[in-house]
Amino acid sequence: MTAGMPRESYDVIVVGGGVHGCSLAYRLAVRKKRVLLVEQRDICSGASGRNGGITGEGSSLFAGAGDAVYALTSENLRMMSTIGDELGIDFQLTRPGGLDVATTEAQWDHLQQAVPVQRAAGLDVHLLDAHEARKLEPALTPDIIGAKFARGHGHLWPFGLVHGLAGAATKLGAEIRTNTTVFNLLRRGERVSGVTTSSGQFEAEHVVLATNSYTPLLLPELPAGSIVPARGQILVTQPVAPMLNHAFGTNFDKEYGRQVPGGPILCGGFRRLDEDEGLGHYEERVTLPVISGIAGCLTQLYPALKDIQVVRCWAGIMGFTPDGIPLIGPMDGMPGLTLSAGFNGGGFSWALITGKTLAAQLCGDTVPFDLSPFRPGRFAEKGTAWNNPFTAGEASRARAGHEV
Ligand SMILES: Cc1cc2nc3c(=O)[nH]c(=O)nc-3n(C[C@H](O)[C@H](O)[C@H](O)COP(=O)(O)OP(=O)(O)OC[C@H]3O[C@@H](n4cnc5c(N)ncnc54)[C@H](O)[C@@H]3O)c2cc1C
Repeated sequence: MTAGMPRESYDVIVVGGGVHGCSLAYRLAVRKKRVLLVEQRDICSGASGRNGGITGEGSSLFAGAGDAVYALTSENLRMMSTIGDELGIDFQLTRPGGLDVATTEAQWDHLQQAVPVQRAAGLDVHLLDAHEARKLEPALTPDIIGAKFARGHGHLWPFGLVHGLAGAATKLGAEIRTNTTVFNLLRRGERVSGVTTSSGQFEAEHVVLATNSYTPLLLPELPAGSIVPARGQILVTQPVAPMLNHAFGTNFDKEYGRQVPGGPILCGGFRRLDEDEGLGHYEERVTLPVISGIAGCLTQLYPALKDIQVVRCWAGIMGFTPDGIPLIGPMDGMPGLTLSAGFNGGGFSWALITGKTLAAQLCGDTVPFDLSPFRPGRFAEKGTAWNNPFTAGEASRARAGHEV
């Protein structure tokens, strides 16, 4: 830290107490940096506490960025297996593999095209016919066409991991202020030099926005549409006897779910049945068409669930990007500011390695990954027209006349 700075000054201020902010704060604390993490609500109260808890490696379907996506997310998956011991926590990680189930010819065609491309990029994925898929997951309906099996993919308890990271960061000296809202970035000349919050001003050499969908609210300099809030909804059933051996996705991965320890089955998706497909607002509210759609999908895939009660549902806000990949690294033209945001529907598959990599970068180390595809300023040049290969941008694609 620079000598002579006022007391409320830090090496790094991290805004956002989700999995990304906590992962980064932990890694910075390991490196003995003076860290302040500021969170407007509580730790893990945003998307990180409202998601499906499914994790895996990214795909090579992102044109031009596939290798960079795979390099980071495969390392993240490796780190998932060791972080529990490192932090001394149990976050219920299990990695039995994931199943992406095809119930229509269109989905089956998509899986047949995707698997060779993903295998070439290094993913351990395999096509299964209906018989093979049902051997792995006997509860599946006989009506499926087939599935993709992704070895090593799995699921976890998000709260356990995020609070484990936050707790470890605190033990190592990081300061965490919850119920504290960042209103503005402070500037000293060109440089971002701190934040103004609901409990005062704080200065730092570096400010990192780990604010996911909320990032545009703090950073009007981002071209409109660089990160779009997208509401996702999830339902949870009453506990049932163990019946799902794998996390599952279906319908181009737009629907997904898993059985959690203790027996409840969690399932989400059907954002396309939401008002405006859930895009463009921050209301954490469930809607009947979406929850009904999810329930229908669950009983279609697993007929044994047809008389099972739904006991809970919730909504959370993701940060979608036009090209489906996040914004990671220094913000162009704004020295002192770094972004770690826009993780679409899969932030847990990135958070451990992103935190470690950004901590190294902020300490001036060379990082062993190609971060260029994730450059936060890229949309100023390439525009924000939707080209997200998975779920994002359905409404705008529909408006543009593409098939959704
Ligand atoms: C329904 C649903 C299902 C999902 N399923 C999965 C899944 O199965 N697997 C997976 O990997 N991912 C899944 N995701 C996505 C995943 O949850 C996110 O990618 C991930 O949690 C993003 O983490 P984050 O730390 O970047 O953002 P968040 O967890 O949203 O954290 C950002 C934090 O910043 C805080 N903040 C924002 N503005 C301010 C401010 N001005 N001042 C102070 N604090 C501020 C917010 O309160 C919030 O806590 C799902 C998401 C949803 C909603």
